[in-house]
Amino acid sequence: MPDNASPAAILGDPPSIVGPLTETIQHASDLVWDTLAANTPRDLHWEIILLTLAIATFIWLIRGGHGARGADGRERKAGLLQFLLPKDIYSHVSARVDLWLWITERILRPFWIVGLLATVGSGTETAVIESLEWIFGASPAMQSNYTWMLIYSLVTLLCYDFVFYAIHYAMHRVPALWALHKVHHSAEVLTPLTRSREHFIAGPIWAAGGALSYGFIGGIFAWLFDGGIVAATLFNIGVFALLFGFNGSFRHYHVQFHYPHGLSKWLHSPVMHHVHHSYLPKHWDKNFAAVTSIWDRLFGTLYIPEKDEYTPWGIGPATQSEYRSYWQNTVGPFRDWYQMLRSGDSPQAGAADQRE
Ligand SMILES: [Zn+2]
Ligand SMILES: [Zn+2]
Repeated sequence: MPDNASPAAILGDPPSIVGPLTETIQHASDLVWDTLAANTPRDLHWEIILLTLAIATFIWLIRGGHGARGADGRERKAGLLQFLLPKDIYSHVSARVDLWLWITERILRPFWIVGLLATVGSGTETAVIESLEWIFGASPAMQSNYTWMLIYSLVTLLCYDFVFYAIHYAMHRVPALWALHKVHHSAEVLTPLTRSREHFIAGPIWAAGGALSYGFIGGIFAWLFDGGIVAATLFNIGVFALLFGFNGSFRHYHVQFHYPHGLSKWLHSPVMHHVHHSYLPKHWDKNFAAVTSIWDRLFGTLYIPEKDEYTPWGIGPATQSEYRSYWQNTVGPFRDWYQMLRSGDSPQAGAADQRE
């Protein structure tokens, strides 16, 4: 995902003469990209890490040393330092592989941002604006107010979360995609860097999904407000950056942060993602969304864990040794695809050995 760059900044100056329609589209496109850059999960931020440590310390205090897991996925009592930075987790080979996969992804990222993201994001929003103009005519040029800002925030959040859910569901259910996403699930311990642990081919797929959802909603709102959605966009930055940033990083931290049961039915608590990483059959294919529980609830994949529920992480003892090193995780998908092609496996046959 781009951190701050808009496609205009990446691709160079626009032509000197810009027609009114193109200008509107260009303007809207920049808005979409600013929103995308502001809202998508970014790499580690000190504010987020400090907030994570502060909440973890609070959990340690109120639970008398309980509430964090060890590398085996079991809850255990610990002193504060061991609670916050357990040696068995941060010295684990999985944590080292997280780091190298993250570095690879950072190096390769610029190559696909320009080629793929600029096309999908701005292409989608241009298509949406043009379609709306074709069907309904010129923009109604509505005036933005606080209520509309909230609606814009909420719609963007729900749309992004739905697209995330759909991609994530496909990553688990389609064998060729599972071969890629397995790299995220081969993490045997969770650290904040596990969030970025993806095969370098999976990065563009997630990013295209984000660009598609922001382009779609951005196009609709840019048309409705004739580009006057700037305030709402600015308003969104704080809310989304905090929600995505915090949730994305805490859910890959080994400390269990539960929400009250009622709230968990609406928002994913960080500990609900511990379940998603568990190899126990009852935990498979649960809690797919990024932020809300709404889509998981709607499609029957929501799983709210009990307090201190055992969640051993990884892809399971039977195949874990094939996905342990950096090299194994990098070539693994290619090997799986080759085997699928060679054996002419039906998709179901591939899915059956997802996890043992
Ligand atoms: Zn997953
Ligand atoms: Zn994860």
